[in-house]
Amino acid sequence: MNHHRPESSTDGPQMRTDPLTGDTTVVVGSRQGRPNRPSEDCPFCVGGLEAPEPYVVRGFVNRWPAMADDRCEMVLYTPDHDAEFWSLGAAGARAVVDHWAERTAALGARDDVDYVLVFENRGAEVGATIPHPHGQIYAYEHVPPVPLRELVDGVLLPEEVPDDLVVGTHGDWVTWVPFAPTWPYELRLAPRREVPDLLDVRCDRDGLAAALVDGLARLDQLFDEPMPYMLWVHQRPTDGGDWPGARVHVHVCPLNRAAGVARYVAAAEQGGGVWFDPVLPEEAAARLRALPGMPSGSASAGGSPVSTDRAAGR
Ligand SMILES: [Zn+2]
Ligand SMILES: [Zn+2]
Repeated sequence: MNHHRPESSTDGPQMRTDPLTGDTTVVVGSRQGRPNRPSEDCPFCVGGLEAPEPYVVRGFVNRWPAMADDRCEMVLYTPDHDAEFWSLGAAGARAVVDHWAERTAALGARDDVDYVLVFENRGAEVGATIPHPHGQIYAYEHVPPVPLRELVDGVLLPEEVPDDLVVGTHGDWVTWVPFAPTWPYELRLAPRREVPDLLDVRCDRDGLAAALVDGLARLDQLFDEPMPYMLWVHQRPTDGGDWPGARVHVHVCPLNRAAGVARYVAAAEQGGGVWFDPVLPEEAAARLRALPGMPSGSASAGGSPVSTDRAAGR
């Protein structure tokens, strides 16, 4: 029996649905050829392959897309190769947030785009192939199942998060550890007002920028080493629907549960669909609150400073 498939079947991305689980997988054979963490001649540094001209924040279509039709974009946060998201400061982060909003508008305006997902994979542990600070944007033809489930069945009320789970507030934005996190030091960021997306005039982008800088700084301070994480922004679909109750928010999933110790997703979790968290969320929030947070010199624009207890240390 011949299991070989024609060569053409591996050329472009294919969307497949598993008949048993119903899960959708985009199969992209062509991505195996993409670069693997080049150490010199960084393509994202000014003068590099993807950034020939000077820039502040730069976006472009991914050369090795996971989906066809220009649905995958890269976002370079800064020309500084050695920066981190948090070291951009509130002003630098605000420029990134503005770019996210602009691309959400541009991609969302397409008839063949129902959902724009802004995200970042940080660290080799999460498969980031180039260390230069950057994120990505995917423009989906249909609303993907995870945001759809949240929109239909979920409840997001940052104004009702108990104090002992709150890590900080910046302008309209609250940062907290979820009541039932999947990852021990997981963070959620959302505005206290019902703002559907980054484009909405009521969206406090300065507050979001400050909250991102502060929250991501705390994750690096937690174990005194760069925290690998997955970050994504959920917002209202761009299919023209009403989506009452949609509220823009950010998920941050840090991979480590202790210094250099990964929190692996275990068989019972994958097989049972029930997560197990070795850190009490209220204690995780207290530990994160006790850290210095946002670097000095990048004060929150328009937000009340986070109350910190520096003396508590780690
Ligand atoms: Zn670089
Ligand atoms: Zn969400």
